[in-house]
Amino acid sequence: MGIFKKLNWFFKQEWKSYVVGVFFLIIVAILQVVSPRVVGIIIDEIAQGTLSRSSLAKWVLLILVSGILQYLFRYIWRMKIWGTSAELEKILRSRLFKHFTEMDATFYQKFRTGDLMAHATNDLNAIRMVAGAGILTLADSISSGGITLFTMFFLIDWRLTLIAMIPLPGLTLVSRILGKRMHKSFRKAQAAFSDLNDKTQESVSGVKVIKTFGEEEQDIRDFEARTKDVMLKNKEVYRTDALFDPAIQLILGLSYALTIIFGGRFVVEGSISIGQLVSFISYISMMTWPMLAVGRLFNVLERGSASYSRIEELLEEKSSIVEKKESFPSLISGNLDFQVEQFKYPNATEASLSDVVFHLEQGQTLGIVGRTGAGKSSIFKLLLREYDNYEGRILYDGVDIRDYSLDALLKGIGYVPQDNFLFSTDIRENIRFADPSINQEAVEAAAKLAAIHNDVLGFPEGYDTLVGERGVSLSGGQKQRISIARAVVLNPELLILDDSLSAVDAKTEEAILSGLKERRADKTTIIAAHRISSVMHANEIIVLDEGRIVERGTHQELMHLDGWYHRMYEKQQLEIKLEGEDA
Ligand code: ADP
Repeated sequence: MGIFKKLNWFFKQEWKSYVVGVFFLIIVAILQVVSPRVVGIIIDEIAQGTLSRSSLAKWVLLILVSGILQYLFRYIWRMKIWGTSAELEKILRSRLFKHFTEMDATFYQKFRTGDLMAHATNDLNAIRMVAGAGILTLADSISSGGITLFTMFFLIDWRLTLIAMIPLPGLTLVSRILGKRMHKSFRKAQAAFSDLNDKTQESVSGVKVIKTFGEEEQDIRDFEARTKDVMLKNKEVYRTDALFDPAIQLILGLSYALTIIFGGRFVVEGSISIGQLVSFISYISMMTWPMLAVGRLFNVLERGSASYSRIEELLEEKSSIVEKKESFPSLISGNLDFQVEQFKYPNATEASLSDVVFHLEQGQTLGIVGRTGAGKSSIFKLLLREYDNYEGRILYDGVDIRDYSLDALLKGIGYVPQDNFLFSTDIRENIRFADPSINQEAVEAAAKLAAIHNDVLGFPEGYDTLVGERGVSLSGGQKQRISIARAVVLNPELLILDDSLSAVDAKTEEAILSGLKERRADKTTIIAAHRISSVMHANEIIVLDEGRIVERGTHQELMHLDGWYHRMYEKQQLEIKLEGEDA
């Protein structure tokens, strides 16, 4: 019941809908007992030979009217109560989503996307059930159960009521126990199915890799194991489901048997009429739902309460990136000083960056090279304030980036991440994502700079072409170039390209780089790359290894050093030459 207390804020807010809903629910409960009683009266009139044409018409009309009113009122309460519970889900979902957008990288490391999705669907669903089905079953079982019981007890026979009721709590037990089991096995079946889905998706998208490594057999075996798992889990669901009806019939049957045995005797004794007995039997079947509902109610509340706690837990997570109260509101500009003595990811034991220090004059370009895992992206994550917990400082124009407002900082940075991401909308919206009011001219200028304009003109609907599953499929290089256009469209103070040219050919790369140099002469750019050709024109290049700067200088200086940079350059030149000969 604690969950009702927790949801009190919502019930207070929506009490009117609930009052209307519950009011009609009670009316329906009263109307419900009319028909069985009328049928009983008709039977008695037949038995006594007093039934006339006109009285029959009157009774039938009464049954009809009560039926129509029940239909109408049921519709009203359903709309009120279910509709309101959907409102609760919406409110909680918005809260959760807003919270997700405010969270930092540490949060997303702690909770996996799949789990967050599950919270946003299963848990919210369970909470909605409390506000909908929970309230409903509570009100319904009390009102319709209570009114039916009242009618049986006072209008028919209290002794018979007590006797016939003996087996009925069994219904509550059945719905409580089997319902719980059903839910568990259903969850398991769903999990197995989503597992199978993941596997299928993985296999289909990775089919080339699988074939190259001759792993088809293994893959098929894997798949079969999972399909079998899904089948077994579903069988468990059916097994539990199959127990429901027989159990209910058995308990009801017992109750009917008791009613016939004792009710029959009461009729013979003359303490109740045959018509009353007929009405009574109908009432017993009407007690089925309220008794089942009580058991169900417990399950709904239990699940809702657990889900509410999980959601509360998520909402209580705080972002470790805090805005200072008096943050520097202006946009970043000027020289960049990166002075990080040490940075460790939360939970990591080893430092990912050590003594990484560089100075960039406004308008300069920095190149960062190094093998995978050297720490290139980590530098960017600090610049973007995804993490604040490092030793050292990062200064923009002498001001610590932690003193700027997050908004002012991020507005000044155009970032093209390694795993570039396009939204499922058209190309124009993808490019002007930062600001939908950007005009076509600016969009095209950015696209030209990113060397994607000509490609776009070749698409069936130009800039209106949708990307993603419902639109054109783009090559890796095209995706990268659209992401670059998105980052440069606002001509940001700092442009970060994190290995963003890896999938474009050498000629296009050169076109993009020289365009950037020209257009962004007074703006700062940082390029991380595997390919030396992406950074060789930079004012300074740093070579990272295990989070430390191991070489630094201009292209010329690094070539003289005869270290990793030089070797890499030679190796890549050789590769280009070999590729040329192949072609
Ligand atoms: P690069 O961009 O050069 O490939 P990264 O900056 O991504 O390198 O990674 C640097 C090091 O930090 C690697 O050892 C990597 O395993 C580690 N690392 C990266 N991201 C995380 C993370 N979220 N949590 C813990 N360690 C991480």
